[in-house]
Amino acid sequence: MRLLWDLEGPIATSIRVLDDPTNPFSPHQAYQTALDPTPEFHPISKSPITEPKVSSLNVYVYHLDDWAECWEIIHEVHYDDAGQEFEPHVPEGSEYLTPRLIRCCGTERPKPPSPVVVRAATHPFVTVHDYVTTVHPWLMGLKDDIRPAMSAMEGRQLTEDAILVVDPLVPDEIKLLYSPPSGSGVRQIRAEMAGRVQVCKTAATKRLELGKNPVAVQARAADPVDAETAQAMWVNQLGLHVNNLRA
Ligand SMILES: [Zn+2]
Repeated sequence: MRLLWDLEGPIATSIRVLDDPTNPFSPHQAYQTALDPTPEFHPISKSPITEPKVSSLNVYVYHLDDWAECWEIIHEVHYDDAGQEFEPHVPEGSEYLTPRLIRCCGTERPKPPSPVVVRAATHPFVTVHDYVTTVHPWLMGLKDDIRPAMSAMEGRQLTEDAILVVDPLVPDEIKLLYSPPSGSGVRQIRAEMAGRVQVCKTAATKRLELGKNPVAVQARAADPVDAETAQAMWVNQLGLHVNNLRA
């Protein structure tokens, strides 16, 4: 939790390292300490990204995992005049064809990106450096998909120049936060993180009502789980997240 990480440019200017992980206003150092031709990096770069250590890691974007379901919830009520198109679809756990909304209001149903795989490159385990050098360019390429997803989930339009900030608390499931460019930026967001947890409440609640599994939880379950188990896991996961923020 020591990385101050935005998606405004290359790693050299977008990532800093806090001296005190519990204090977002403590002094911070550049992650990249020397530029080309011989780039060097902060010592934290050699640390494992997870405990216990892993040799590879599949990384998802929280907002994009949920985005197709959120998009459907937003648009399914538009009925006639929005140019809705459907495709035949067999839902998971069913054997019956069901129409699935694929176009509405001039937008296509979003497709979640495949996870990016981070592999250990220099140590037996995935380091912070393996992680940021794989995940940062991947996220930079997804910014245009992330903005509308976050706008819908937050209930307000993110402007083109809103600063996207990576919350690296759960390394295999990236959450993003944002700051208006006029705001005090990344450190202010980190301070706010201590006081709140962002979740796609609408979609999660709706899916629980529908008896479906929250995607974020399902991604962590080895087998499909029923709605009650999913809800318990989701609440547990949220509780862990809150506790980690307080820690
Ligand atoms: Zn619509």
